[in-house]
Amino acid sequence: MNFLEEKILQDGFIKPGNILKIDSFLNHQIDIDIIRQIAYELKRRFRGVEVNKVLTIEASGIAIATMLGNLYDVPVVFAKKNETANSTDDKYMSKAYSFTHKKQNNVFVSRPYLHATDKVLIVDDFLADGQAVHALIDLVHQAGGKVSGIGIAVEKGQQQGGKILREEGYHLESIAIVESMDWENQTIRFREQPAFALGDCNLKTPFY
Ligand code: 5GP
Repeated sequence: MNFLEEKILQDGFIKPGNILKIDSFLNHQIDIDIIRQIAYELKRRFRGVEVNKVLTIEASGIAIATMLGNLYDVPVVFAKKNETANSTDDKYMSKAYSFTHKKQNNVFVSRPYLHATDKVLIVDDFLADGQAVHALIDLVHQAGGKVSGIGIAVEKGQQQGGKILREEGYHLESIAIVESMDWENQTIRFREQPAFALGDCNLKTPFY
């Protein structure tokens, strides 16, 4: 089991409606050590991939994106959400239905912050149906940029987002993949993943 799976079992809880709450370390209070480990692990998994920008969506992706932007030493951009449609003159705009809030959001980035020369690593806290990530991909493509990869902390493997993105050919890495969860018994099963890095990576002196 990897560090994030362990942390989820230790501090997370499951709510009815297939919602995993991890407010104590990611979605409300931020555990810097966990965020740091997530960022190092994503950087390791995308080793050799060219990245000149990290893109996420407000709000919970920002912590991971910032830590990762620090490791790559590249700018971090977060897409903003807004319910009402607005002029697209000065921004790239897409739409995403919010799984947790059950509403459609406009998702936008101001034009000066995405370019045709960008090689973008998209990052988010959760991947469920893939609405948020697909909106971010759309924004990158509107700007003429390239999606280098997609890095996720927690993928909910029972939902279709991950499957669809992999079938579309994107390089998607999720540190924890929930295969199933049961709120009545508060149990979670994770998908088996390849051997994990932390054994061969000292976070104080990372190897890249
Ligand atoms: P998607 O767009 O992939 O359907 O859903 C991803 C977004 O919904 C994430 O940005 C995340 O904020 C939210 N989300 C989806 N499922 C969960 C969940 O089980 N727990 C939490 N905390 N957020 C979720």
